[in-house]
Amino acid sequence: MDFELPREIKMLQGLVRRFVEQELLPLERQVGESEELAEELLGPLQERAKALGLWLMDVPREFGGLGLSLLARCVVYEQVARARVIPFRNNELFGPHVDPILYHCTEAQRQRFLYPVIHGQLRMCFAQTEPDAGTDPAGMRTRAVREGDHYVLSGAKRFISAAGRADFAEVICVTDPERPGRGISCLLVDMKAPGVKLVRQWPTMMGDAPWEISFDQVQVPVENRIGEEGQGFELGQQWITVGRVKSQSVWSIGVAQRALEMAMDYARQRVTFGQPLAERQAVQFMIADSAIELRAARLMIYDTAWRFDQGQDVRDASYMAKIYCTETAGRVVDRAIQIHGGVGLTKDLPLEYWYRQLRSLRITEGATEVLRWRLARNLMRERR
Ligand SMILES: Cc1cc2nc3c(=O)[nH]c(=O)nc-3n(C[C@H](O)[C@H](O)[C@H](O)COP(=O)(O)OP(=O)(O)OC[C@H]3O[C@@H](n4cnc5c(N)ncnc54)[C@H](O)[C@@H]3O)c2cc1C
Repeated sequence: MDFELPREIKMLQGLVRRFVEQELLPLERQVGESEELAEELLGPLQERAKALGLWLMDVPREFGGLGLSLLARCVVYEQVARARVIPFRNNELFGPHVDPILYHCTEAQRQRFLYPVIHGQLRMCFAQTEPDAGTDPAGMRTRAVREGDHYVLSGAKRFISAAGRADFAEVICVTDPERPGRGISCLLVDMKAPGVKLVRQWPTMMGDAPWEISFDQVQVPVENRIGEEGQGFELGQQWITVGRVKSQSVWSIGVAQRALEMAMDYARQRVTFGQPLAERQAVQFMIADSAIELRAARLMIYDTAWRFDQGQDVRDASYMAKIYCTETAGRVVDRAIQIHGGVGLTKDLPLEYWYRQLRSLRITEGATEVLRWRLARNLMRERR
């Protein structure tokens, strides 16, 4: 068994690390908490990413992207997370965001939706959560009734990121109410269609503000359905499995690694009661515990990503990674704030921002308790 990263991934890691240090870290103080990086900052960074050959890393080769392995992307995104520049929920540094659900498009749908999204001409949002259906899709009420060559869609979605600027919404909705939690499909809904309304935004402690949308008798052509009827929930889950590893888990440990490094630097220079903090066992234990947990978290991500790249089912592994990495990062950043004292609580450092962001990751895209419950259920089923 070889635990070394492959040579080409290590080279990529070094390249991105330099990019982060030279281009992103110097911008940290200029960037606010908005969901989007200002175009005048993002544009030049994207050009730089293109010049480095890092454009469209997430997009499979057959659709014109780099088609990097999940392991390679995890290594890259961990480096990028070190800088508090790129918003977590809207990372377009390496190209427009493409929800993998769109890779299930038919050839005709690819021309209308997938390629325009890849080339930045169309923007999508993903709309699954509802007032009565968050972690439990059985409560889903948004209903699409087929009438000839179109569906009539009615209902409401809540907490939808980037809905305000989206051209289309990937709406997960009930097409067969006789199969609760399963008779669910995915429709691409034009946000300008009659009956679609942006109801309100929900500002959050993280600085972003997802939307509530309502649909009142919206006509959606049948050719806007992705996949078969009844496949919608499964398509959404496939995407979320990869996202748990590549986004939430990786972002958590990238942030936590930087917080740990900041804590170590500060502990060496800050003197109290005649000694640097770094000489105090209480502080050393915090540093050691953070390093131990981060090492375990990183190995868990690499293992899960590698298995995914080998074609293995990583659903349970993705639950484990998301739970462990988000909880670990929360503890690491908390300790880093503690070591920094009052300075750690100020907005001069990125620590308090990360603390708030990390808190949200234990709820969104699979609440920790629900992932633990599903994991235990699957493990015990296998045991039987
Ligand atoms: C900033 C932000 C952006 C978001 N973006 C999107 C988006 O773009 N698209 C989208 O569709 N959704 C989005 N969401 C919604 C998000 O995914 C949901 O909030 C999340 O899935 C939790 O659902 P809920 O809020 O309804 O919590 P609920 O399902 O009501 O759960 C509440 C709590 O109950 C506990 N719980 C629930 N079930 C169990 C159980 N079986 N056992 C033990 N405990 C349990 C958990 O602690 C959970 O946190 C976003 C949310 C936020 C805050």
